[in-house]
Amino acid sequence: MPAKILDGTAISRQILDELRAEVGEIVKKTGKAPGLVTILVGNNPASASYVASKVKTAESLGFHEVQINLPEETTEAELHALIEKYNEDDDVHGILVQLPLPKGINEKAIVNAIDPDKDVDGFHPLNLGKLLASGGKDGFVPCTPAGIKEILRRTGVNLDGAEVVVVGRSNIVGKPIAGLLAQKDDTANATVTITHTGTKDLAFHCRRADVLVVAAGVPGLVKPEWLKPGACVIDVGVNRIGMNEKTGKAILSGDVDFARAREIVGMITPVPGGVGPMTIAMLMKNTVRSAKRHLGLE
Ligand code: NAD
Repeated sequence: MPAKILDGTAISRQILDELRAEVGEIVKKTGKAPGLVTILVGNNPASASYVASKVKTAESLGFHEVQINLPEETTEAELHALIEKYNEDDDVHGILVQLPLPKGINEKAIVNAIDPDKDVDGFHPLNLGKLLASGGKDGFVPCTPAGIKEILRRTGVNLDGAEVVVVGRSNIVGKPIAGLLAQKDDTANATVTITHTGTKDLAFHCRRADVLVVAAGVPGLVKPEWLKPGACVIDVGVNRIGMNEKTGKAILSGDVDFARAREIVGMITPVPGGVGPMTIAMLMKNTVRSAKRHLGLE
């Protein structure tokens, strides 16, 4: 039987509906809407398209949305000044600087300049530390790992004692999802292995995964014969593998051969339509949470 498709679009819609109701409550109680600033520097088309989706979703939820588009030549000092301004702005509860930034701007310094209490992307070291220490309950969890965990939770995947293998060790996906799923709590408690470019035998690790999270950015990296029958596969990879001549849109694929994997595993996320929409939904959730904290509702 082909695998169950974990439909991130449908799950994210549910989450957005829940958030819409929450935003209504916040506005009713405080007269203020959650405030999100998105800052895009330069002309990277993929970044522009990600920001456009985030802005559109924020607007559809009734957020106070401030969209800043800056030219490629923007200096680090200008960006710092802008972040400082929004750190101090009481109507702004979330600040998102779209990465990657143009060459010459120190990304780490920019991320570190965002008030951790408004860091709805969850990239600030303080928030990453809180994630490791306590699963991020008192901070912000980065949106992609948060989205992965939410897919697993809402689908009822049992993580207790499960063998989880994560492919990729980035600070925005691999390391935080590993940290989250290894937490000792009712929603995690898995045995987690992180694999990466230094891993000697990737196939060996993938073969024993009950839950396989692949975030490498390499199309077809995980071979179908490496998959454990019945496993749950979360494919985070977003690879542009061509262009649809008719629509002019990029053709996307994940890091796993979806069509062949579907015949082996128990559950799998598609690309697109899996982790991607969940990432945006969790950004909105983090912003609503931040607004509640700042407005004294949490
Ligand atoms: P990254 O480039 O920062 O990290 C990739 C990781 O994969 C590295 O840690 C590397 O060690 C590992 N890796 C690469 N090649 C490997 C190989 N041959 N064997 C073993 N490990 C290997 O990437 P990232 O920012 O974590 O993103 C990973 C992928 O996920 C990309 O395709 C990105 O576009 C996608 N992504 C999707 C979303 C979403 O919302 N859907 C969000 C973030 C990232």
